[in-house]
Amino acid sequence: MTIRLVIIGGGPGGNTAATWAARLGAEVTIIERDIMGGAAHLLDCIPSKAMIATGGAVSATKRFAGMGLEQQTAEIDVDHLAERIDGIRTRLENTTTQLLDSQGIRIIRGEASFVDPHTVTVRTAAGEERIEGDAFIIATGSRPRIPQWCTPDGERILITRECYPPKIFPKSIAVVGSGVTGVEFVHMFASFGAKVSLIVSRQQVLPGKDPEAAAVLEETFLNKGVELLKGARAESIERSGDEVIVKCSDGREVRATHAVLAIGSEPNVEGLNLEAAGVELDSRGYINIDQHCQTNVGHIYAAGDVSGKLPLSSVASMQGRKIAEHLMVGTKANHRHLDYDKAASAIFTEPELADVGLAEAEAFSSGRKIRVTKVPFSSTAKALIHNDPRGFVKLISDPNTGVVLGGSIVGRHAGELISVVALAVTANLKVADLLDSLLVHPSLAEALSEAAE
Ligand SMILES: Cc1cc2nc3c(=O)[nH]c(=O)nc-3n(C[C@H](O)[C@H](O)[C@H](O)COP(=O)(O)OP(=O)(O)OC[C@H]3O[C@@H](n4cnc5c(N)ncnc54)[C@H](O)[C@@H]3O)c2cc1C
Repeated sequence: MTIRLVIIGGGPGGNTAATWAARLGAEVTIIERDIMGGAAHLLDCIPSKAMIATGGAVSATKRFAGMGLEQQTAEIDVDHLAERIDGIRTRLENTTTQLLDSQGIRIIRGEASFVDPHTVTVRTAAGEERIEGDAFIIATGSRPRIPQWCTPDGERILITRECYPPKIFPKSIAVVGSGVTGVEFVHMFASFGAKVSLIVSRQQVLPGKDPEAAAVLEETFLNKGVELLKGARAESIERSGDEVIVKCSDGREVRATHAVLAIGSEPNVEGLNLEAAGVELDSRGYINIDQHCQTNVGHIYAAGDVSGKLPLSSVASMQGRKIAEHLMVGTKANHRHLDYDKAASAIFTEPELADVGLAEAEAFSSGRKIRVTKVPFSSTAKALIHNDPRGFVKLISDPNTGVVLGGSIVGRHAGELISVVALAVTANLKVADLLDSLLVHPSLAEALSEAAE
């Protein structure tokens, strides 16, 4: 019997599940209400990286000045920038749609809601359609969190999605929230020449990340003239003519031409009528899943941000793939559960920060014995050649077995280099395996084999 799989949400979680399940023989329908490829993915993740890349090109001109080139001044053409971002988004949206089409997957544009555990209705432009399925995947993603004390106006008080690029380019901007998104926005606007203030609720940016890595970033921000308001909690943001005023609970305030909120996200569960399906949420409002991404209702799975695991496109896609395999093939002997602790992630600032697996601080607080080796990029020829010796590679391994447990990289291309450590962590490779790899010279990766010595 062919399994009829119905997927709600066309982001990385939904569309990856769709293509894998179709390949494995399912009859797949995917429902998307907004943009195929995913709202968080194509309206936030990708455009933010495109803006950061353009900002990076601006700051590269300064690096080139130390490489024997006359210093150039880069002018931003906002219309061109907007066109570029639109172009990338449209291309990725079309590629996703074509891939789904080519696999015979039915695409429905509309908003889905459960009627009972085996039926959804979809509100489309043409009316309402009922769809029955044997299995379902809820992959509806998340949206930026807007606190009660602030009303974004799309002009000067912004959510992240309104910044690619904003209607008026900020002369100065207050970034509220110093997690991954917050620091990326600080970097992005600072590289475009804006005066940036960052409201940091704790005493360190990027709470939970390697403090040494966070310290390198803080230092870079301070060198760029970014104002860091540590231990400050924003409690209101108001317009005052062409300015915004961010007030903090300790009395400090920031005046800027713009403010952007980067204080996390909320799951898209409203309107799904999950009660009719019997699907339970956790205490934070995300969908409860087990190690197979199954909800409490066996034939209903959840993938991506809505499942409350790591909010990363890569994790959403992997969950989608694992669900398709579990649904179509079952748990085979060689099945590997998705191990969220082994997910690599990167922060696209300058320098980039990336990590995977066990963190030094985590090992320290749990009392686990580890071996930590750290090598600065300044000791590699490649970093000097490219006039950017900032940062380091840190490898964390088991002192008894030599197995690589984690790593943290700060520097140029950290987001690419961490893949080597991610492979080592996933495949339980040893530091000796890294050391025995014949690497390219000159390359930044040489710092990894040096750290493995
Ligand atoms: C500013 C920012 C930067 C980011 N940068 C990165 C990064 O560098 N790397 C990274 O890995 N991740 C990044 N992320 C996170 C990443 O975008 C998300 O983790 C990822 O998109 C989650 O995929 P998803 O499929 O769960 O959700 P989405 O991509 O949001 O897709 C869900 C889809 O479901 C649809 N939907 C919702 N409800 C319904 C319904 N009832 N009926 C039909 N359709 C529905 C939505 O329209 C949406 O298109 C970033 C996020 C933000 C906000």
